[in-house]
Amino acid sequence: MLRKFINRVLKLGKANPVAQTEPAVIPVDSHGIHRADISSGSRRVCEALRERGYKAYVVGGAVRDLLVGARPKDFDVATNATPDEVRRCLRRSRLIGRRFQIVHAYMGTEVIEITTFRGTLGDDAKTDEHGRVLRDNVFGSQAEDAARRDFTVNALYFDPKTEQILDYHHGVADLKQKTLRMIGDPKTRYREDPVRMLRAVRLAAKLGLSIDPAARRPIREMATLLENVPAARLFDEMLKLFTSGHAVKCLQQLRAEGLHHGTLPLLDVILREPQGEKFVLLALANTDQRIREGKTSSPSFLFAALLWHEVTLCWQRFQQEGESPIPALYLAMDEVLKAQGEKLAITRRIASDVKEIWALQPRFEQRAGKRPYGVLEHPRFRAAYDFLCLRGLAGEIDTALGAWWLDFQNADGEARAQMLLPAEATRKKRHRRRKKSASTDHEAGDESAHEMTDETSEPAAEQTDE
Ligand code: ATP
Ligand code: MG
Repeated sequence: MLRKFINRVLKLGKANPVAQTEPAVIPVDSHGIHRADISSGSRRVCEALRERGYKAYVVGGAVRDLLVGARPKDFDVATNATPDEVRRCLRRSRLIGRRFQIVHAYMGTEVIEITTFRGTLGDDAKTDEHGRVLRDNVFGSQAEDAARRDFTVNALYFDPKTEQILDYHHGVADLKQKTLRMIGDPKTRYREDPVRMLRAVRLAAKLGLSIDPAARRPIREMATLLENVPAARLFDEMLKLFTSGHAVKCLQQLRAEGLHHGTLPLLDVILREPQGEKFVLLALANTDQRIREGKTSSPSFLFAALLWHEVTLCWQRFQQEGESPIPALYLAMDEVLKAQGEKLAITRRIASDVKEIWALQPRFEQRAGKRPYGVLEHPRFRAAYDFLCLRGLAGEIDTALGAWWLDFQNADGEARAQMLLPAEATRKKRHRRRKKSASTDHEAGDESAHEMTDETSEPAAEQTDE
C-alpha cells in the first residue's frame, strides 16, 4: 500500500507521467451523476460504440461541469475504437482535425466530438524548436489517454451504462478541494502546449478553482511561449475565454499571471490606460451578464469593444495629421486590425463585422434627414447600437444619444419623423463648417466626428443609406 503510494508520487513527479493503470471507480451514490444528466446524443454515441464491442465514455469537461453543478457546454466521448472504426459505427459522422484526428457525429442538432484514446507521447513526436507538439496521432490505452489530458479534473470518464466515474488522477478529490492540478510536470506540459496556460486561467475562473501552486508558478516565465502558438488557435482560445461568462475574472487572472502580454497584442497597451481599461472591463462585464442570462454574445461585438480604445486614439491621431473624420476613422480601423491580425487571426468575417460596428458610430450622430432610417436598417444596427450604449456607459459620449436611438427604434412612423432634428440645423452647421474651413484652410484636428454632416466624404461602400 505504502509502496504503491510512493510509486505514484514518484511517477507523477516525472517529466513524462507514466500512466496509472488503476483508476478509482466512483459509484453513482457518491457522485450523483445519472445517465439522464448527459445529453441524448452522447448517450446514443456511447451505446452505438458499445454495441460493437468498443469502450465508450463521456469524458472531460462535461463530467467535470456536472460534478460542480454547472451545465456542460458540450459532451465529448472517448473510445478505444479508431477514427475509422468510429465512422463505421455512426452513419452521420465525419473525420476532422489536424493536430489530432477526431470524429464529429451529428446526432439531431447535437455534434458529439469523439476522440480515440491517445497513447503516451513518444520521444519521436513531432515538435517545434520550443518543444510544442505539432502532430501526434498515436493511439493507446485508456490509462495513457487519461495521463495525456491536461488537468486532473479533466481526466474523468463517465460510464453511461453503470453510471460510474473512472478517476485516474484524483480529479474528483481535487474538484472537491477546489484545486486545478496539472497531470504530470507542469513545465513539460506547458512546453508541449502553451495554450494550457490559458486553459488553466479560464477553467480556474469558470469553476471557481485555484490553480495549484506547482502549475501556477512556471506560468510567468513561460508566458512568452504563447508567441509561438499559431494565431488561429490563440484566437479560438481567447474567444472561449471571453465568452466563458467569467471574462472579467479571466482578464484579472490573465493579468495576475502576466499572460495578457502575448495574447491580444494591444490588450496590454489598452489596459495601461485608465480609459481603455474602463471600457474593456465594462464590455466584458456586459458580455458576462448576457451569457449568464443565456443570451448570445457576438464575437464581433466583443472584439470591437476590446480594440475600440486603440481605434479612438489612432482616429484622433489621423485627424491631427489632417485627415477628415471619416477617412481618418477608416485608416485607424485598418491600422488597429492589422496590428492585431499579425498575432491574432481574427477571422475575415469577424473583422468585417467589427469594422461595420465601428463605422456606424459616427453615423449615430446624424439625426436629421433620411440618414437615421438607413442606420436603423443596417444589418449591424443592433450590435452597433449596443456598442453606442457601452460608450455612453463608459462616459465617452453623452448617454442621451443612446436614449434618443432607443426612442427612435420604438417610435411609430409619425412619432419617428417628429424626432428627427431639423434639417435646418444641419444646413446651418454645414454652412458654418464651409466658412470655417475656408478661413482656416483645414486647420488640423478641430473637426470632431460629432459634427459630421452630409458632406463628409464617406467611402462609397458605406453609403448604404442613400
Ligand atoms: P470547455 O468545454 O468548458 O471549454 P473542456 O475542458 O471540455 O472545457 P475542451 O476543449 O472541450 O475543453 O476539451 C475536452 C477535453 O480534452 C478536456 O477536458 C481535456 O481532457 C482535453 N483537452 C483539451 N485541451 C487539451 C490540451 N490542450 N491538453 C491536454 N488535454 C486537453
Ligand atoms: Mg468541452
